Amino acid sequence: MTSRIWPQSIGLLLLALTASAQTPQLSKTVEEFVRVQAPKVVLTHVRIIDGTGGPAVDDQNIVIEGGKITAIEKGADAPAAAGTTVLDLRGYTVMPGIVGMHNHLFYIVRPDLDSQRHFDPPVLAPQMTFSAPRLYLAGGVTTMRTTGSMETYTDLNLKHDIDAGKLPGPHLDVTGPYLEGSTSYFIQMPHLTSADDARRTVEYWAGQGVTSFKAYMNITRAELKAAIDAAHQRGIKVTGHLCSVTYKEAAELGIDDLEHGFFVNTQLDPDKKPDVCSASAGQETLAHMDPNGPEAKDLISTLVSHHVAVTSTLPVFESEAGAGRPPLRQQMLDAMTPEAREDFFLVRQQPASAPAPAPKIDPALLWKHDLELEHAFVAAGGLLLSGPDPTGRGDVLPGFGDQRGIELLVESGFSPVEAIKIATLNGAIYMGKEKEIGSVATGKNADLVVMKGDPAKQISDIENVEIVFKDGVGYDSRKLLESVRGRYGQY
Ligand SMILES: [Zn+2]
Repeated sequence: MTSRIWPQSIGLLLLALTASAQTPQLSKTVEEFVRVQAPKVVLTHVRIIDGTGGPAVDDQNIVIEGGKITAIEKGADAPAAAGTTVLDLRGYTVMPGIVGMHNHLFYIVRPDLDSQRHFDPPVLAPQMTFSAPRLYLAGGVTTMRTTGSMETYTDLNLKHDIDAGKLPGPHLDVTGPYLEGSTSYFIQMPHLTSADDARRTVEYWAGQGVTSFKAYMNITRAELKAAIDAAHQRGIKVTGHLCSVTYKEAAELGIDDLEHGFFVNTQLDPDKKPDVCSASAGQETLAHMDPNGPEAKDLISTLVSHHVAVTSTLPVFESEAGAGRPPLRQQMLDAMTPEAREDFFLVRQQPASAPAPAPKIDPALLWKHDLELEHAFVAAGGLLLSGPDPTGRGDVLPGFGDQRGIELLVESGFSPVEAIKIATLNGAIYMGKEKEIGSVATGKNADLVVMKGDPAKQISDIENVEIVFKDGVGYDSRKLLESVRGRYGQY
């Protein structure tokens, strides 16, 4: 027996050493996508948008060693040397890897969806464990929160395999199963039965390794409070896509983040009862909340004083705001299965023959109010995060949606460098990782997006991603997309 202890211990020691190394040994599957990997990489003559909101700086060199940025210097030709890869990036821009704060690893299926937008229950959310991580990385996302999981063990194992170099994908902040109340739109979500159940659920999943939680639309205040307290005891943050609990109530209970901008606050909904989701799920409140009025001011000051972040998820609301949005991207259509593409167009179209929806609020007004409130929140010192929420309505995809979110923030009035900060450094700050990621700075992890053009001048250049560095390894965006072709919506 004794003799068998030693080899086992040495094995564990070796495992520990491997795990602590900067870049793990990459599997053949991952290596297929690697375009740049060398002891030293020098990006020369590149424009930097550093993620802090500062202006773009032209003609810079970035030196990458051991997975870190070790120097940022004035642009110069770098001599070729053994062990050094030099990339001439004239005409290109580098920005920090996107920190996607409302991202998912599942897809949404509406069985038998037709041109009248009818579908048969139940709505399902199958995992996209193969395609989603590749699409995120291809789009420039190097860190993401899963923001509610359907297959939590899958997501935890995926995180392990990505970190171990076995599978391609971004760094994951795995969110636990949705903390949902007694009923749900989604049949796959567990239901909390009491505050004690909420506490036990958080304790169990924190023990399994999840690093964030998300409360959902029908949770009660008591359940939410118990979940927040249990999470905070473990240093874990809680966000929410709420309805039964208003934004102000959640802030006062200690929540850390609120999803979907100001679209799902219910405090002014006429039928709102405590602990129960209202019929409009927040539309009435947003329509009636004057962004410059006293209620908005009071809400924003409550959120800011309680250090509650807000996650902007404009891409998932965009198609409701006007016809023809968002613009079609061929690469996005190519990524989908034929069935997913068909559903995408059915969801996207506004059929003239469809029955008019119940007398309802003008989506353009909701869009306008939300944008104004998001701006007022930032002006008041609030921490605004960004994430696309793929694929809430079937028309937002991983990676592509993250880029689109940045474009929409610019359309709403943020400057391109401010919008990029919201999608990069702000997420890192929220996660307490701003010393390692979120901006282009010496000493930080080399998580970088290389794109042709200048998104500081023309934000749509953010779509021209060619190489995505994660921990100093440069992945080929086009190859990642190619590997997903025709598969998103299936696995
Ligand atoms: Zn979501």
